[in-house]
Amino acid sequence: MTDWEGPTERGFRPEDEVRVEVSREELARRLASVRAAIEEACLRAGRPAECARLLLASKNAAPAQIRAAYELGARLFGENRAQELKAKAPVLADLAIEWHFIGHLQTNKVRDVLRYASVVESLDRPALAEELHRRLQREGRTLDVYVEVNVSGEPTKHGLSPDEVPAFFDQLARYPTLVVRGLMTLGPNAEDEARARRAFRTLYELRERLRREGYPNAPLEELSMGMSRDFPWAILEGATLVRIGTAVFGPRLP
Ligand SMILES: *Cc1c(COP(=O)(O)O)cnc(C)c1O
Repeated sequence: MTDWEGPTERGFRPEDEVRVEVSREELARRLASVRAAIEEACLRAGRPAECARLLLASKNAAPAQIRAAYELGARLFGENRAQELKAKAPVLADLAIEWHFIGHLQTNKVRDVLRYASVVESLDRPALAEELHRRLQREGRTLDVYVEVNVSGEPTKHGLSPDEVPAFFDQLARYPTLVVRGLMTLGPNAEDEARARRAFRTLYELRERLRREGYPNAPLEELSMGMSRDFPWAILEGATLVRIGTAVFGPRLP
């Protein structure tokens, strides 16, 4: 952890740095186990063995842990706070990491996120689309985005309700710098297979419907769904990308 100033020096509260460091051996073991579980779920779903890519949700993981996971073959990493991405990405700039932004994004943090992230998975409102487009246009480039949908309806979660999504896609036609690669959701909090799978199926069906309607600049190949507690169920319902933190980096404390 020698190259990491730590969140406290960046103005975070000390209690924000809350993952116990995992040994390289343990990290290797957990990664192998998650990869095996992904493959098993893909095969159970009747899909190809590599049907879902693994993104490591690295919030609260120190750069040394991210580097170790990278050396074990991980390439996709996701951060959910702009400040944390901004602190870690430069320290890891020598690695060919593909950073995804997966948290709620305030418009005043767009600039920092655009600097490091190749994908924003948490596009959840018109004002954010507008701000992303404005900056991208200025920089003369495009950005891959996923639209975040709150399929469980839980009030603590961000994302559009499924009903709001078609109108939002109509609005996105105004922002040609945004390439809508997919949809993203967080499953319900309860560890209930039937409920979780219903939520994931809702996202899958929504994606199918949007594809049939054929929105411009929205190839919609991706379904980002499934975390440590529910990724096998998400894969059974069509996930192409799972976002795993705890199962690899250990629990966030407390
Ligand atoms: C932290 C996080 C994850 C991973 O959750 P775990 O339960 O730690 O696997 C996935 N998606 C988002 C948006 C997250 O913030």
